[in-house]
Amino acid sequence: MSGGPLQPGERVVLVDRKGRKYTIRLAAGAEFHTHTGRVGHDVLIGRNDGATVVGTGGTRYVVVRPTLSDAVVGMPRGAQVIYPKDLGAIVIGADIRSGCRVLEAGVGSGALSMTMVSVGAYVIGYEIREDFAQRARHNVEAFCGEGADFRVEIRDVYEGIECGAGAQFDRVVLDLPEPWRVVAHAEAALVPGGLLASYLPTINQVWELRSALEHSSFGLVETVEVLHRTWHIEGRSVRPDHRMVAHTGFITTARLVGAERAGTE
Ligand code: SAH
Repeated sequence: MSGGPLQPGERVVLVDRKGRKYTIRLAAGAEFHTHTGRVGHDVLIGRNDGATVVGTGGTRYVVVRPTLSDAVVGMPRGAQVIYPKDLGAIVIGADIRSGCRVLEAGVGSGALSMTMVSVGAYVIGYEIREDFAQRARHNVEAFCGEGADFRVEIRDVYEGIECGAGAQFDRVVLDLPEPWRVVAHAEAALVPGGLLASYLPTINQVWELRSALEHSSFGLVETVEVLHRTWHIEGRSVRPDHRMVAHTGFITTARLVGAERAGTE
């Protein structure tokens, strides 16, 4: 984590009174423009995280360093990224922790990768598209720093997971269309008790995955969805917001429990 005053080269988020967010990279002499006016970066450089600045048109902005959630929403992306609400649930559901060795596929824009690296996991990603792999490397490095424990390989995970002697994984985390084709590979690559997690947009896909898990050494299977409803709180008007994102994806988790599956004796 970087502390201290804001420096040139850093990404920051300007938040206006309506909560609109603008992500910019600070550069000496540069200016940030909106239809209401402009703010010179030199006014921001040297200020503390959380400072308030006023643009030429009188608009006030709070300037903050991006949270992980801000970074995911504001970063360059090609593939659909996983929403922050689901990133949090995957970290807990797949029990991603410091020191975990994680095989992730596909990597996409790297939103899930940077989340897992941020909690201290060592992540190896498989991605079939070179352009996505490059972007993910860039995004993870921009948020987690150059020394991030993250490597992307151009590989099709349906063809297998490479794990030499002793190089097994604690977790396999999947965000791709046909995760059932990875179940047997994950069985071979995971340590006993290891976890498999999969993120899927439709319940038909979940059904297909759950069927494959039924015929595997995985047990303790759970499928969840996360409903995230924000609230409007202003004076005496206190109620849920009118709009919400009603559906993103289903998270399925399972543990490698060996030949005798839990609950089947
Ligand atoms: N979780 C990512 C988004 C992943 S999108 C994020 O948070 O940013 C799904 C990705 O899976 C795409 O980039 C696609 O190219 C990749 N993919 C699809 N099939 C694959 C396969 N068989 N092996 C590896 N990657 C695959």
